[in-house]
Amino acid sequence: MKEVHELLVAVVGENNVVTAKVDRVAYARDLTPYFSPPDLIVFPESRDHVIEILKIASKRDIPVTPRGGGASFQGSSLPVRGGIILDMSRMNKILEINKDDMIAVVQPGVRYETFEHELNKHGLTFPHDVGSHDAATIGGILASDSNGHHAYKHGRVSPWVQGMEVVLVDGSILNLGSRAPRYNMGYNLSALIAGSIGTLGIITQATLRLIPKMEYEATIGAFFQNLDDLMKASHAITMSGVDCGTLEATDGYTVNTISEVMNLGFPKCEGNFVGDVQGFSEEELQLKLNTIKKILEEHNGEKIIIARDEETTRTLWAPRLEIDIAIMKVHPGYREIGFAAADPCVPLSKMAEAMRVIGRIIRSHGILAAVFCHTGIGIIHPAVLFDPLNREHWIGVKNAEKEILDYVHSIDGVITAEHGLGYVKNIYVEQAVGGLKLKLDREIKRIFDPENILNPGKMGLDTNERDADVQFMYDEYISDGELWGVKK
Ligand SMILES: Cc1cc2nc3c(=O)[nH]c(=O)nc-3n(C[C@H](O)[C@H](O)[C@H](O)COP(=O)(O)OP(=O)(O)OC[C@H]3O[C@@H](n4cnc5c(N)ncnc54)[C@H](O)[C@@H]3O)c2cc1C
Repeated sequence: MKEVHELLVAVVGENNVVTAKVDRVAYARDLTPYFSPPDLIVFPESRDHVIEILKIASKRDIPVTPRGGGASFQGSSLPVRGGIILDMSRMNKILEINKDDMIAVVQPGVRYETFEHELNKHGLTFPHDVGSHDAATIGGILASDSNGHHAYKHGRVSPWVQGMEVVLVDGSILNLGSRAPRYNMGYNLSALIAGSIGTLGIITQATLRLIPKMEYEATIGAFFQNLDDLMKASHAITMSGVDCGTLEATDGYTVNTISEVMNLGFPKCEGNFVGDVQGFSEEELQLKLNTIKKILEEHNGEKIIIARDEETTRTLWAPRLEIDIAIMKVHPGYREIGFAAADPCVPLSKMAEAMRVIGRIIRSHGILAAVFCHTGIGIIHPAVLFDPLNREHWIGVKNAEKEILDYVHSIDGVITAEHGLGYVKNIYVEQAVGGLKLKLDREIKRIFDPENILNPGKMGLDTNERDADVQFMYDEYISDGELWGVKK
């Protein structure tokens, strides 16, 4: 690696290559249990840097794992075979915001929150706000084909990419799309690259479609004694034609815990509903709110709250966003860890049942569960909350994970619709997608990256990448004394 280090320094400069143990450890982890340090971390500042880095790596068969904010939740940006971490955070310029063409041209390392803040100043928005918006980068969001909070209304992110510059593993530059709003020219490689989590190429620039930011916004919430009523209400809102940005639900355990810990005075319930609504005028917004309120009442929604200020909005969203902090207060030492059953998708008619069953499966293994869902698009987010130092809890998580995914299959659902396959779902991929699809995926990978340099070990593309046994994260922590400087 000494030679590689010197070559990389010659390309990007001394300040842009890092090899200290403490830094390698920082890049060895994400929100999953796994631990795999890279050999070195490189910060490209331009497309040309990326080209030269890839040429150096591919000549020597060194794995390269791109990383944006590292918030993937599924081990996507972990360097599971070591090698180089390509940290894109210094390619973070917003190159253009163009109101006439309704586009922005950005480098991949721009954080979503920063980007959206700048767009709002121009009355524009890129409506793909992810829960990790303060960490997540545009490169990471595109490479994961993320589903933002407003995916119910705006869909996933890939159709919003008008143009993309991608550096392939041999250093060649693939330009897709343009500044024009649409193109239809053969296979949709832009959609293929978006969602390929850095396994096919490195996104070095993107031209993104924008829309006007609606001036009038509100959040409406209600509490239900019965999840079936809640889901029927959500479906009735969809059928009314009111174009909500989000339709969300959180289970009773979570709502009741948050209410108690934060003293919010919510009624005890089996679940709460939250919807975001926008309008181009106050009248339009009121019309939508009245329609939704009536539907919620007709379906036995209680304590309907309409939030027009930041504090009330935060209160309504608290069960969805604050559960990690609340749980730590009730159960010190507990935390949420990314696992393979974090984002399955089920048929809309099965949502109430699935929320109950999934919560029950997790709790039956002696760990806590907070279950959220995007009611309008079928995605369920079970969060496992437990003590990561307790080996029994880990075994519970692994068993629950498998049971949940089997259950999801049994009701004709899919194992992931938001975070993607990443690393944690490797062992479930073949069962989920089928042998032929996996074979085709592997062929596509081989065409783009024949030597498997780019983000290897992900999406089930490599065989036998991960065994099914419990991997106890703190075994690494405790045993690798040399790296951590601690004794077992
Ligand atoms: C609290 C929390 C809330 C979340 N909420 C949501 C949500 O609402 N919706 C959702 O979809 N996801 C959500 N996620 C998952 C995650 O935040 C998103 O997938 C996000 O897009 C990751 O962005 P990132 O910059 O952190 O990417 P990283 O985690 O750094 O990378 C993600 C993948 O993209 C690759 N990559 C990064 N940059 C590039 C590049 N320039 N070129 C090619 N490949 C690249 C990486 O190698 C990796 O495989 C959430 C995660 C957390 C922790």
